[in-house]
Order: sequence, then C-alpha cells, then structure tokens
Amino acid sequence: MDTKFWSVDKFVTNLEDYPQISEAAALLKENEVVAFPTETVYGLGGNADSDTAVAKIFEAKGRPADNPLIIHIAKKEQLDSFVDGVPEKAGMLMDHFWPGPLTIVFNKKAGQLSAKATAGLSTVAVRMPDHPVALALIKKTGLPIAAPSANQSGKPSPTSAQHVHDDLYGRISGIIDGGATGVGVESTVIDCTGPVPVILRPGGATVEQIEAVVGKVQLDPALADQEIAPKSPGMKYQHYAPNAPLYLVEGSRDFLQELINEKRKLGLKAGVLTTEENVAFFQADAVLGCGSRDKPETVASSLYDTLREFNAKDLDVIFSEVFPRIGVGEAVMNRLMKAAGQRLIKEE
Ligand code: AMP
Ligand code: MG
Repeated sequence: MDTKFWSVDKFVTNLEDYPQISEAAALLKENEVVAFPTETVYGLGGNADSDTAVAKIFEAKGRPADNPLIIHIAKKEQLDSFVDGVPEKAGMLMDHFWPGPLTIVFNKKAGQLSAKATAGLSTVAVRMPDHPVALALIKKTGLPIAAPSANQSGKPSPTSAQHVHDDLYGRISGIIDGGATGVGVESTVIDCTGPVPVILRPGGATVEQIEAVVGKVQLDPALADQEIAPKSPGMKYQHYAPNAPLYLVEGSRDFLQELINEKRKLGLKAGVLTTEENVAFFQADAVLGCGSRDKPETVASSLYDTLREFNAKDLDVIFSEVFPRIGVGEAVMNRLMKAAGQRLIKEE
C-alpha cells in the first residue's frame, strides 16, 4: 500500500483549510486509515461508524479484536449521536479536562458505531485530544474517529511520525507529521458508568487532578494486583516491550551496576534506563537517560522514544531504575512494568 506523508505546522491558523488536512480527511471519509499526532501519542484514525475502516485499523496494527478503541471527537455535541446520556461527574470531567488526556467510558446507544470499534461492548470510551492537528482533522471529517496508538501492537506507542513510519509504513494510507507529541504516555481511562468513577488505566491526567474535580475516585484493583482481571480489556496485554528483556530494579545505583556487571561477565550486552542525573554513574553497553528524576512529566515525554532507542543498540538485557509514582509517574511505572512483563528485582 502507498503511504502518503504530510508535514503540518501545528501552529498555523485555519488548519482545517490546509490541503494536507483536507486530503487526509477525504481518505478517512473513504474509510481509509491515517495516522495523526495528538498531545499524548500518535493515533491511527479511522471512521468509527464503519466496520471496514475499523477492520483496517486492527489489521494494520495486528491488534487483538477484543481490545476496544478510543473514539476521538472534536466537539462535545458529537457525543449525542452515540452516547446514552452523560452522567453528572462525566460532565464535570469533560468540562475540566477536554480537550486533554482523559478518556471517559460511557454507556453506548444501542446500534451506534461500528461494533468492532467497541469490541462488542455496551460501553464506549471517548476523548477529545488537545492537539490542533487532531482537532482540525476530526472537524473536517465530521465523523467520530476511532484511534488507538499508531504502533504495531505490543511495541512502545509512537511519539513521533518517524516511530509511526518505522512500524506502519506500507500498511496505512497516510501519516500526518505534526512534530513530537508532548505528554508522551496515553490518556487516563476513567469509567463513569457507575456511581463512583473508576480509573482503568493511569495516564496523562493524574489521579490528583481528577479528584480535585469530582472528589474521590476508585482505582481498578487490577492495576495493583496481577491476579485480578482488568476491567479495561486492553490492559491485560503485554505492551511497550523493547526487543531485549527488560527488568525493573528497585534499589541503590550500586546494586543496579552490580546486576549489569554480572551480565557483562557472561559476555552479554547490558543496557540501563536511567535519568539525566544518573547517566554518568553507570558503566554499561548502553546508558540512556530518560528525563529528570524529580520531573515525572519529562520522563513520560521521552519514555517510549527511549524504549525504542534501545532496539538500535543490539542488547541482550536492559535494566531500568524505578520512578516515583507521583503525578504522571504512576502512568510511567504502569507502562514500564508492562514493558518489563512485570519483572521487578528488589535489593534485599
Ligand atoms: P489504546 O487505544 O491503545 O490507547 O488503548 C485503548 C484503551 O482503552 C485500552 O486499554 C482499552 O481496553 C480501553 N478501552 C476502550 N474502550 C473501552 C471500554 N468501553 N471500556 C473499558 N476500557 C476501554
Ligand atoms: Mg496502544
């Protein structure tokens, strides 16, 4: 398949009238799939009303069919056609966070949207992305746009058009390059169908920020306990993994260095994922600094790029520091634990 590539400056005005946006929107209306930037990660968009378009998304990504897609909208009114009522707390969250990195799960109006997009569920996850290119594109189509992350299933999500190109070139109709994304981890998913909102996936909007708006929320118990089945179907899959096995290490820098030394003595190539502060401390075959230790937003923003960078280093094993679970640090640790297949080594 021929994959078109458009470069778009997100700061220009009247984006909706840009030829690149018009061309991409026209393809979406023809039920083709196109990747576009959002403030969290790049999304792979398709018409959420069309089984044909949605099937192309799953096919291009190699995504399991039981993992529902997030529906992206550009105006709140778009909800009316497919959501069965907006609960009070959901309304408060929409007013506060949209556009932004918060996905809200609603009850769906029966018969609306492609059943493939929602994996046959009676609920639907929706968000309004905070990115001028995404908003212009969605507005131009006038459609609800189903858009999972634009990566090959299982790989780290894409935070640049180059990542999308690496994973999906030749498999999708186009890529809009709008520069690097900002937040760097996916949206927070919150289920508002019950009396108390439940966070199903930590992400760009933090628990602290959410509770400041709607009061106490619950966390899906599956987030803390691997034995419990998650309420969000996608959360059960291994994800974000670099090519070499990754281990999280809780302990001192000396302890982590010792783990590296042991592997290297065996003739293996070992990498370490650390922060800017500690890069100079470690001796390994690759030492990558990901943001700054006490600024979780900076770690989130470069996490996936760093995980992808390891793949170019041809390593046998990677050790990662753990990060404080403060603010977006909660999402960072959730993604890292998944990338590591839950392997955590603790210093005695
Ligand atoms: P992604 O598009 O790759 O960011 O993944 C979307 C996430 O939203 C996955 O974890 C899905 O399981 C979750 N999700 C989508 N729709 C629903 C829904 N109706 N109920 C619960 N979780 C959902
Ligand atoms: Mg994804």
